Order: sequence, then C-alpha cells, then structure tokens
Amino acid sequence: MKPAAFEYQRAETAAEAAAVLAQLGDEARILAGGQSLMAVLNMRLARPQRLVDISRSSALAKLRVDGAMLHVGAAVTQAMLEWRPGLAQELPLLALAFPHISHFQIRNRGTVAGSIAHADPSAELPLALLALGGEICLRSARGARRVAAQDFFTGMLLTARRADELVEAVRFPLATAGQGHGFEEFAVRHGDFAICAVAAVADARRLRIAVGGVADRPVARDLPLLDGAALDDALNELAWSLDVRDEPQASAALRRQLVRRLGRRAADRALTTRRPA
Ligand SMILES: Cc1cc2nc3c(=O)[nH]c(=O)nc-3n(C[C@H](O)[C@H](O)[C@H](O)COP(=O)(O)OP(=O)(O)OC[C@H]3O[C@@H](n4cnc5c(N)ncnc54)[C@H](O)[C@@H]3O)c2cc1C
Repeated sequence: MKPAAFEYQRAETAAEAAAVLAQLGDEARILAGGQSLMAVLNMRLARPQRLVDISRSSALAKLRVDGAMLHVGAAVTQAMLEWRPGLAQELPLLALAFPHISHFQIRNRGTVAGSIAHADPSAELPLALLALGGEICLRSARGARRVAAQDFFTGMLLTARRADELVEAVRFPLATAGQGHGFEEFAVRHGDFAICAVAAVADARRLRIAVGGVADRPVARDLPLLDGAALDDALNELAWSLDVRDEPQASAALRRQLVRRLGRRAADRALTTRRPA
C-alpha cells in the first residue's frame, strides 16, 4: 500500500519543528529516519496532514558528552552512536545492545531519538535507556522539560510526550567506575525484534535488571547484590510480576522462562565485568 497524501516540510531547528507541532498537534508527525513511520503510513495506520523532516538538521545532529551524560540529538542516527569511538568505554551497555538492533541498513537511517519516541516495547534502545536511568529532553513552543526514562514509556507505542512536543535529545548516563553491564536477547532470527531482551547494570550496591519485549513497555527492577539460587529466585519473582504478553509466536510461559534464563546470563555478565572503583 501507499501512504495517504501528506504535506512535507523540512525543519532545521527544534524551534521550527516545535512551531509546526504547536500549530497542528497530532496532525503533524516528525519524520526522523522513517524506518518505523513509513511502515505505519504505508499501512495507513496513521494519516497525518504533514510530515516534519528533521533528518537533515545539523543543529539536531549533535552528539556530545555533557557532564556525566552523553547527549544524543534528535537527528543522530543509531549508526552514528554505534560507531562513536570509545562507546564501549563510555556506554558499554549500548555497545552490547546495538548488534541486536535489526541490520546496519536500518541503523544507518533510524535515529536514537526516533526509537525512543516510537516506544516499541521490544526495541533495544528504550530498554537500555531505562536500565541506565537516562532521560528524554522534550521541546515545545511552550518551553523545554526533561522526563526520566522510567516515567516516559507509558504503554505499547505510548509515551509521556505530548502532541506538541519534539524529542529534542536523549541523554544516557556515562558508565561510572565500579559498574558492570550485561545484555542478552532472544529473537526468532538475528535482527528481528526481541521476544525477550534483558539489560543488567551492576555496581557495588545493587543490580538493576530491565526487561524488554515481554510487557507493553520496558520494565526495570532494582535487586540487591545476589548470586546463586537467591538470584534465580529473584528473577523468577520478577518474571511472575510482569504483565507478560501471550502471543501465538511466543507464549507467556516462554517469555517468563526467557526472563529467568536471559536475566541470569545478563546479571552474571554485569556482576563479573564490574570495573574496579
Ligand atoms: C525491517 C526493520 C527491522 C527493525 N528491527 C528493529 C529491531 O530489531 N530493534 C529496534 O529497536 N528497532 C527496529 N526497527 C526500528 C528502527 O530501529 C527504527 O529506526 C526506529 O524504531 C525509529 O527510528 P526512526 O528514526 O526511523 O523514526 P521514524 O520512523 O522517523 O519515527 C518513528 C515514530 O517516532 C516519531 N518520532 C521520531 N523522531 C521523533 C522526535 N525527535 N520527536 C518526536 N517524535 C518523533 C515519528 O513521528 C513516528 O511516530 C526496525 C525497523 C525495520 C524497518
């Protein structure tokens, strides 16, 4: 199918994009990499009046360290971040997660912020942002605000972003001394969306486990530093506490088992790769 007719406009700055969103609200859609949006339009699941293309904005393509955070502008592609020199030291969790995100052709066009705004519950970047305790910078004609990742993802493809707001940037906390990271995923074929993905971040005090692909949004839990059977028990409790999707291609029982098994692997990797503080 082809999309319904739409107007097309290019925006060079966040303010320009926000002005259109202020005027048209839901009738305007941001076009970033188009890797998810174009499928939605082709299937006519959305028929926006206007697309606002931010993909060529150099102002929104900034990728820089800002204090203890990596600031990723809205036009930064997934490939730009994936191939950033030193990513494995700055954000080891992202270095582990990127190879699971589809194929390099998709990552060449798809943006980091677009994945966060789209909020697919099986997507790796929302999961990693949640596991790391990152934040989303929103811009509207009314002003700017920041939302913590744990408050941003509100349901299947749903977020706390208002219709007149642009995701201007996403901010990932840089790895700190003493942290370790793990990322594990199960998909039917390599590059497919995850049936279950688990991100783990450990430090001297706690183990954070974040689970994607299982509920209608990524979910994170903080656990004490456990090992052996106590860790298995905690992961089992986590698996049963989630509102697990039950679908023909992956039953709830399979997904719960994946939370237990992948959770254990991710946790073990995070605990054993902790860098000396
Ligand atoms: C074949 C295929 C396989 C894929 N597999 C995976 C996978 O395994 N894992 C995975 O995580 N992703 C996967 N994706 C999705 C891919 O990562 C997308 O690129 C990403 O989800 C969306 O990024 P985008 O820049 O293309 O956004 P777009 O498609 O341009 O936009 C997606 C949605 O977000 C909105 N939006 C985008 N940017 C902003 C912004 N700055 N502010 C406000 N709203 C915004 C758009 O209006 C639209 O509603 C796959 C895509 C394809 C085509």
